[in-house]
Amino acid sequence: MAVKVISDQCIGCSACVGACPFGAIIMENDKAIITEACTACGACVDVCPVGAILREVEEKTVAVDKNLYKGVWVYIEQVNGHIRNVSHELLGEGRKLADAMGQELAAVLIGQDVASLTKDVFASGADKIYLVEGTEFKHYSTDGYTITMTDLINTYRPSVILMGATNDGRDLGPRVACRVGTGLTADCTNLGIDEATGLVAWTRPAFGGNIMATILCPDHRPQMGTIRPKVFKRPEQDFSHTGEIIKVASKVKPEDIRTELIEVIQACTASCNLEEAEIIVSGGRGMCKPENFTLIEELANVLGGAVGASRAAVDAGWIPALNQVGQTGKTVGPKVYFACGISGAIQHLAGMSSSDIVIAINKDADAPIFKMADYGIVGDVLEVIPALIAEFKKLKAAN
Ligand SMILES: Cc1cc2nc3c(=O)[nH]c(=O)nc-3n(C[C@H](O)[C@H](O)[C@H](O)COP(=O)(O)OP(=O)(O)OC[C@H]3O[C@@H](n4cnc5c(N)ncnc54)[C@H](O)[C@@H]3O)c2cc1C
Repeated sequence: MAVKVISDQCIGCSACVGACPFGAIIMENDKAIITEACTACGACVDVCPVGAILREVEEKTVAVDKNLYKGVWVYIEQVNGHIRNVSHELLGEGRKLADAMGQELAAVLIGQDVASLTKDVFASGADKIYLVEGTEFKHYSTDGYTITMTDLINTYRPSVILMGATNDGRDLGPRVACRVGTGLTADCTNLGIDEATGLVAWTRPAFGGNIMATILCPDHRPQMGTIRPKVFKRPEQDFSHTGEIIKVASKVKPEDIRTELIEVIQACTASCNLEEAEIIVSGGRGMCKPENFTLIEELANVLGGAVGASRAAVDAGWIPALNQVGQTGKTVGPKVYFACGISGAIQHLAGMSSSDIVIAINKDADAPIFKMADYGIVGDVLEVIPALIAEFKKLKAAN
């Protein structure tokens, strides 16, 4: 879409300048000029008293035959021969989509010596696996994996592709979508089927998390999206379930990969691996000052868990953004979630409400967090957490 000024008709009233929310219109020689800052929102069109501004809708250049695209694919993310949890979660959800669409569920497994992982992938529900192996896939590379995924899509034409919204998935997804000429809904928090169209309905927070947008991809194929880890539960695995393996030869040449992995630096230790953690201890503004976060770390340590935080604690600079749980942070689903000095704002709950057990510690008995907590302790975190640490230490020593 584009916005244009018909210069001959412009009377130089500058009404459009004030109406533009992006400051994208300037006046030159008494004529309105649209600058590069224009987002084509069209706010200027209606305010022009002489109809000198037009919003042009570009002709769609779509020519894909959608009937040629069939099946739901899940990209299997593996690191050093270990499949990430999110890939299993997506196989579970992909199974539901595939069944609802009456199509098959396939997985894409790329790596070096990863054939042994196929059993695990079938057990989570895949009917078919596209397996691409080679030494060039020892480590994830944007170039190598993009070429391979693009080639697979162009050859086998899936209708839907699900990827984890992880560092690798967020890198690979958009690049592949661009190569195959389709759109991608990033960072989804829910999936479904749009009843009216039968298309995949991709839901994600929009406008800074203030609304949830549901996005369809009506004109292009495949329909692609990245989905946050822990949004869906990992399916029960059935190791008697098996399927077809399609081995595909790699088309990646050494010179295609323009980057070289020199060293892996572990920036995130177990304590901040929130997506995979079974126990999370999170602290909020109620921890009162940054030094008190050592209590959160100590409790997490004793329990072998990870450290989380509310946005208030992150914004205060008490803990890195990497640890933030919530709508604009990480979505987590541990077995046990401790919310310490966290009020329970809706944006925080959005990231942790699928936890199995929530234990809240708050000095305000009316704090909203208690409405959804399984166990609540009304008290000062500075007294309750040290007591918990001491008790858990005793229990551990006794066993
Ligand atoms: C678009 C948008 C996105 C957002 N995204 C996120 C997000 O991803 N994650 C997130 O967490 N928030 C997010 N927020 C912010 C959210 O609305 C809340 O402001 C935030 O979660 C509050 O953090 P808190 O509970 O730590 O602080 P507060 O709401 O200030 O609560 C502090 C709590 O600590 C208790 N307390 C105080 N002292 C003690 C003590 N000594 N002992 C025990 N309890 C004590 C108080 O009673 C209170 O309940 C977002 C907001 C917006 C608008």
